[in-house]
Amino acid sequence: MDMFDVVIIGAGVVGSAVARELSRYNFSIGVLEKELDVACGNSSRNTGMLHAGFTYKPGSLKALCAVEGNREFDRVAEELDVPFHRTGKLVVGFTEQDRKNLLKYKEIGERNGVEGMEIIGKDKMNQIDPNAGGEFAMYVPSSGILDPMQYTIALAENACLNGVRFLLGCQAVSIDRDKESGFYSIGTEHHGERKEIRSRWIVNCAGMYASEISQMLGYPYYPVKGFKGEYYVLDKKAGKYLSIPVYPAPNDRGGFATHATPTMDGNVLVGPDSYITEDREDYKATKEHMDGLFEDGKKMFPQMKREYFIRNFAGIRWKRYDPDTGEILDFLLEADEDHPCTVNLVGIESPGVTCALPLARRAVSIIVQKEHPEPNQQFTPFRKGIRRFYEMTLEQKGKAIEENGDFGEIVCRCESVTKAEILEAIHNPLGVHTVTGIKNRTRASMGRCQGGYCETRITALIEKECGVLETQVRYNKEHSYIFTGKVR
Ligand SMILES: Cc1cc2nc3c(=O)[nH]c(=O)nc-3n(C[C@H](O)[C@H](O)[C@H](O)COP(=O)(O)OP(=O)(O)OC[C@H]3O[C@@H](n4cnc5c(N)ncnc54)[C@H](O)[C@@H]3O)c2cc1C
Repeated sequence: MDMFDVVIIGAGVVGSAVARELSRYNFSIGVLEKELDVACGNSSRNTGMLHAGFTYKPGSLKALCAVEGNREFDRVAEELDVPFHRTGKLVVGFTEQDRKNLLKYKEIGERNGVEGMEIIGKDKMNQIDPNAGGEFAMYVPSSGILDPMQYTIALAENACLNGVRFLLGCQAVSIDRDKESGFYSIGTEHHGERKEIRSRWIVNCAGMYASEISQMLGYPYYPVKGFKGEYYVLDKKAGKYLSIPVYPAPNDRGGFATHATPTMDGNVLVGPDSYITEDREDYKATKEHMDGLFEDGKKMFPQMKREYFIRNFAGIRWKRYDPDTGEILDFLLEADEDHPCTVNLVGIESPGVTCALPLARRAVSIIVQKEHPEPNQQFTPFRKGIRRFYEMTLEQKGKAIEENGDFGEIVCRCESVTKAEILEAIHNPLGVHTVTGIKNRTRASMGRCQGGYCETRITALIEKECGVLETQVRYNKEHSYIFTGKVR
């Protein structure tokens, strides 16, 4: 039976950040994730904005963590070798009501400690980006863009290198505590088999299922409402026209309608819209919403054309709310004597990516204050990502091929991903061997053809490197086999 000092349930950006921060200490740490990779929930289904923190109630956990997370991100990106660009943001307006809302949120931002915001006219907007929609704007220089998938993978890999064990495909289904020993017994389904895991501490980072885990731990079942948002991904041809995220002026509740955001890889995301869903993992895209995104997206990014669309996706913000008033509540991070050795995080919706490390530090400090652990002398905050061939100069490409011939073999033509990168991804520290796991680590199959050319080649490389049959290679989930047998 596996035994740990601390078990973290959920390997989204928050669970991975908690794992990374906990690995600074001498604890045995396990992370349980029901999917076959990290970042399979909302941590990969979002805009990837490093938010500045001007829409959150002053003094709230959202406001405090967003500003803290924003300020430190240049250092974090360097430590974890993740792509990040402090682009700034244009929050644009068309009407007098928009102007009033912008002024209101500028004031809130200043109270939260957001620096450098200014209201600007069309001329200055044009200097910043002539392709932004809107008649005037609030310019927010501290906002930035990151790749939330790469960021979560990097946090998890860094934790793993510092000694954390990730149990992927392992779902927590029950939790009991033995009062005498003080150990929690976590009933799990691990690759379809029932297994018990024991731990002294549990940290709930289960995202969309955080209320269920909260209840298992003996805390209340906190009601949450799902605000689903759909997105369009635009081709890199569109990316040439947009250098900065363009958001509409927030509404009275601080929410944003559809925005246009450049990605770290040169695409543009249009979305999300927002509507209520009950289903915890309802990620399907719908025609009705896609049409709406096109209309609203054009207001932010008039250069948008339907021919730029290459795919779509959706995410769900699980917001905690007060059932009596309907009011949306702050992030919840709690721990108390009635629920010994637990840290409970619920309602970590947007800006959860920006806030992940500040939330993690708060969660970890609760454990450290109780346990007084020794520091992990081997801890390193650094982790190296996979070197990207397409980002190299011609000279660097030549040298890379000279040193390793696999850089000379292109596997994904759209994104120029080489065999060397695919092999490095297959041998990732977390032991992820799904096709999407390789895609998410390298960008192979994320281009215009969406894997039509390279997916079978990636499968063949997984087969060879992992010594498995092609019928055993999974696309993304348990049982998502791509091949069922030979046809000729
Ligand atoms: C449309 C949208 C746009 C957003 N835009 C931004 C943005 O631009 N910037 C920003 O900062 N934030 C943004 N956010 C918010 C951000 O994406 C989330 O706050 C963040 O990803 C939450 O991370 P998490 O780790 O709590 O949850 P998740 O990423 O959902 O991870 C929870 C994990 O727990 C696992 N799990 C659940 N139950 C169990 C169980 N019983 N056993 C084992 N594993 C379990 C799940 O499989 C999942 O992997 C956005 C969110 C959405 C939906």
